[in-house]
Amino acid sequence: MGSSTNELVELISNIKFIEKTYDMMRIVDPVNKKILEYVENIITETDITCHSYWNKESVCDNCVSLRAYKENDVFIKIEYYNEKIYMVSAIPVTVGDITVIIELFKDVTNNMAVVKKDKGVEVDIHGIINHVDILLFKDHLTGVYNRRFIDERLPVDIINKSVHGQKLSLIMADIDLFKNVNDRYGHLAGDFILKEISDVLASCIRTGKDWVARYGGEEFLISLPKADNNKAVEIAERMRKKIEDSVFKFGDINIRVTTSFGVHTLADNDNSSISTVINFADANLYRAKEAGRNRVMSSL
Ligand code: GH3
Ligand code: MG
Ligand code: MG
Repeated sequence: MGSSTNELVELISNIKFIEKTYDMMRIVDPVNKKILEYVENIITETDITCHSYWNKESVCDNCVSLRAYKENDVFIKIEYYNEKIYMVSAIPVTVGDITVIIELFKDVTNNMAVVKKDKGVEVDIHGIINHVDILLFKDHLTGVYNRRFIDERLPVDIINKSVHGQKLSLIMADIDLFKNVNDRYGHLAGDFILKEISDVLASCIRTGKDWVARYGGEEFLISLPKADNNKAVEIAERMRKKIEDSVFKFGDINIRVTTSFGVHTLADNDNSSISTVINFADANLYRAKEAGRNRVMSSL
């Protein structure tokens, strides 16, 4: 497999911990479509094709591993097989001259409502599945990603950071005194503000690898791969200023709100769990609230 096999073995043994969160992890040679076996620190190419797992004779139309390989980015797909729905994440890993794809499988059948085939009614399961990822990962009210997406994607961002030796910064944002908006103008106005704030946050990130998700209630998590602490603070400050300067019009009412931000940048060798890194960002958000709200706090 070339000169970089040892480094690859080391890398894969380092990220084996992630397997615990998933039902299966496998390594794929994306070009030959063969499964690579990883047993006791040795990687060997098998004769098993990756699509044979799905009982398919030819390459999947929606092959995420090839896309992940070609675009050098993470891709996620939903597969329906044997009455079960699987989410497959494909993560490209390059060491020296070798690129392999790490595929993580999760059985998400119980995490969604499945439409069963009715008498005489053909259900286009593939059509449904194509829409399921949007339903699965987007927050219905605001249109940004949801908590489930955070749980699936943040570990991938952390792996990518370690694999590529890049920075990763997180921002936790919480709308200030949001309860007052509901109390003063009603819950519908509150919902409207949540959507408007989501749009502002999303307008401040780079398209591509950055993402905004609703963490809960009026709290948002923003992931900024490749952003160092200065860059992340700059982006949070841009968000803060843009919200402070906005007048949100709900019918005849003009509403102004502010937002507080906590920034956390992972150290180069940091492989912390997602709850740990979120707690760091949250602690800085708390400091921003304590210091008087409408500000950005970071540990560095
Ligand atoms: P702080 O500055 O300390 O964050 O104050 P706060 O009022 O924003 O915080 P608190 O946690 O006391 O209140 C959060 C409010 O957010 C209470 C809850 O009703 C409101 N909220 C959470 N989710 C939604 C939602 O989906 N729609 C609306 N309209 N309000 C929501
Ligand atoms: Mg709040
Ligand atoms: Mg809150």
